[in-house]
Amino acid sequence: MDEASGGVLVVSEEDCQRLVGRLAAFAAVEAVFAAMERGDAHNFPVVREAIGHADALYGFKSGFDRAGLVLGVKSGGYWPGNSTKGLTNHQSTVFLFDPDTGRLKALVGGNYLTAVRTAASSAVSIARLARKDAKVLGMIGAGHQAAFQLRAAAEQRAFERVVAWNRRSEALARLAEVAEEIGLPFESASAEAVGAQADVIITITSAFEPLLMADWIKPGAHLACMGTDTKGKQEVDPALLAKARVFTDEVAQSVTIGEAQHAVAAGLLAESAVMPIGAVINGADPGRRSADEITLFDGTGVGLQDLAVADVAARGARASTRPQVVTI
Ligand code: NAD
Repeated sequence: MDEASGGVLVVSEEDCQRLVGRLAAFAAVEAVFAAMERGDAHNFPVVREAIGHADALYGFKSGFDRAGLVLGVKSGGYWPGNSTKGLTNHQSTVFLFDPDTGRLKALVGGNYLTAVRTAASSAVSIARLARKDAKVLGMIGAGHQAAFQLRAAAEQRAFERVVAWNRRSEALARLAEVAEEIGLPFESASAEAVGAQADVIITITSAFEPLLMADWIKPGAHLACMGTDTKGKQEVDPALLAKARVFTDEVAQSVTIGEAQHAVAAGLLAESAVMPIGAVINGADPGRRSADEITLFDGTGVGLQDLAVADVAARGARASTRPQVVTI
């Protein structure tokens, strides 16, 4: 049985790790952000529900990239008790469909892909918006995603050191190991000190209140706010969005479930002031306009990012000597 005769390709988590490196994820995510801004790719409304069991949030992120002919859905969510069972709290699977027939083409593990595509998203924002002479990388958060974020960010500028804050400082040890592995000195600091020192800051927490205040941030800094992906979550002071140039993956998500939701609700930021990063990639927006401007990327996470990296995994698996194909 092969795919041509109706089989479904299965790509395991392990295969995804082997097949989708940071560079491939960066290229796929950047291309799909550009396609979204051109109107060639669309995300469909997100479903995310508390299921009333295991304290879990479960849902779907779906979309169609007409330029790349990638149609599919990522299904999964957040199970907060998983870490006590030796599993990551985020669990997901991507389903890819044939856009010509609707037939299921591939089942792709989504856990590693979620981390690598989220890191690629903030990395694209750093590549496009951070000052070229950025030297200090700040990290707010040290959970599962943070190490992926650090690795991808470190490749975008010639950083000289990392300063990091986490609610539980013990958890910073793992990030410190990653920094050491990539040859960057690492320092634990207060959130205020991260703001005062960092040229680029990534926030990747599950916080529901501001962790960074507007007047802590250096002129010319770039922030990638990646943790806020649900109504009510919040990582930074809304006043920071009022004084920054704000970019996002998808404006509709940014102003409803992203970091911008709070500044927009408070009347500090107009929805029309939030720019899709795709406009910068496509050359329609200049991005950073001066060395002193603060730029902020509100990375809410869109289904098309998941589909883009799942497509990279599926193509790689198909090209391998023994693709795993099943009949359903
Ligand atoms: P995790 O559970 O492994 O880590 C959570 C992190 O948030 C830890 O650093 C923890 O200390 C911190 N934290 C939790 N509550 C906090 C609070 N009240 N104040 C300050 N810090 C707090 O989670 P993860 O997988 O690393 O994901 C981190 C966040 O990123 C989650 O909120 C997740 O939903 C979000 N996320 C976003 C995207 C995206 O595309 N934007 C993708 C994946 C995950």
